[in-house]
Amino acid sequence: MRLSRYFLPILKETPAEAEIVSHRLMLRAGMIRQQAAGIYTWLPLGLRVLDKIGKIVREEQNRAGAIEILMPTVQQAALWKESGRYEDYGQEMLRITDRLDREMLYGPTAEEVVTDVFRSYVRSYKDLPLNLYNIQWKFRDERRPRFGVMRGREFLMKDAYSFDLDYERATEAYRRMFVAYLRTYARMGLTAIPMKADSGPIGGDMTHEFIVLASTGESQVFCHKDLLDLPIPGADTDFQGDLKPIIDQWTSLYAATEEMHDEAAFAAVPADKQVTARGIEVGHIFYFGTKYSEPMGAKVAGPDGVERPVHMGSYGVGVSRLAAAVIEASHDDAGIVWPEAIAPFQVGLINMKPGDAACDATCAELYATLGKAGVEVLYDDTDTRAGAKFATMDLIGLPWQLICGPKSLAEGKVELKRRATGEREVLSIADALVRLGVTA
Ligand code: ATP
Ligand code: MG
Repeated sequence: MRLSRYFLPILKETPAEAEIVSHRLMLRAGMIRQQAAGIYTWLPLGLRVLDKIGKIVREEQNRAGAIEILMPTVQQAALWKESGRYEDYGQEMLRITDRLDREMLYGPTAEEVVTDVFRSYVRSYKDLPLNLYNIQWKFRDERRPRFGVMRGREFLMKDAYSFDLDYERATEAYRRMFVAYLRTYARMGLTAIPMKADSGPIGGDMTHEFIVLASTGESQVFCHKDLLDLPIPGADTDFQGDLKPIIDQWTSLYAATEEMHDEAAFAAVPADKQVTARGIEVGHIFYFGTKYSEPMGAKVAGPDGVERPVHMGSYGVGVSRLAAAVIEASHDDAGIVWPEAIAPFQVGLINMKPGDAACDATCAELYATLGKAGVEVLYDDTDTRAGAKFATMDLIGLPWQLICGPKSLAEGKVELKRRATGEREVLSIADALVRLGVTA
């Protein structure tokens, strides 16, 4: 992409309304634009990041055996009356009336819809296990939308729903999602710790919130320090095999949200391993048994021919919140520092002197070569002063900056800068390409 033809509305001033660094940087880097409280337009740079996060989430859900569908954003109140949640949900639900005076709503979550899909088709245990997910916009009329997309009213969520014959099998479904989540966040360069969460009236210990530690997080959390360094299950994980040893490794060390915190148990953690911190909730997994299947009549016949309500769990990832969470975890004074996996572009190519024949020709060639090799390049071909170009590249945080100026070009060299470390190298064009993973 040539910057001269792109839409990258960088802000020079730091927006006064933004209280936390990710919100400030997302506005300044031209990633998002607020349209109403907690409601945002995703601008081109932001959308590229959002899509990459979605792609990783999708790949890991698929790997774990979940199957993608797409449910509507607008739902019928009637379904929620069946489950008994319509009145309970309260003011967070955006209620809408259509032209025929039917009660509708903008979905804050989709347990009712997915249970309706399930009961319409599935009758037998032979069709189980089943896990259906979608990545779809949700609306919650939050009392205090704030921190940009961190706590929006409209936000993008991955929500998966598992269906199993009994508790035992539901446990396996839960473990598959647990492991998929560990992999998902790690691929984005995040350490997200599964913490014991409050299961409310359902009870049981099968609910975890995945929390990224950050001083700006909204939750107070407590955990064992070693959780920050546990190995992440590899891509070769067999989701058909026994995942219990992995889960045990993670759940045997203390980690709890404020609601579930147990002073006495935490005191048993060695003092130098006790972490008390703020955290950002980037995911939540939850087994809730027959809470919806029973009132909504989602039943399956077991091998004995007897019908029983299906056991369910739900598994959420805050896809749009993650864009902000990654920035909270990875930035410096100059701007964002994107991990490779979700960077909007891999390389920022900077032409220091547009109009100079050698600079223009070399940049054009580099741009074409990298493009052909599948490297995503944002080419700054604009007529801006060098200082401003560097500042913009640092702000938007692409992993690499490839700098072409007349001086080094006279010696056949370009400069390559690694955004994360600030390290700079003067290299031949061929060597620079190799460094970026392109071989002739
Ligand atoms: P919170 O306690 O932050 O309100 P929640 O418990 O209501 O979260 P879930 O219903 O479990 O959240 O939703 C799944 C995920 O969706 C959360 O883990 C979070 O990452 C994300 N999420 C929830 N609410 C919002 C919001 N208002 N804006 C952005 N992301 C959100
Ligand atoms: Mg909430």
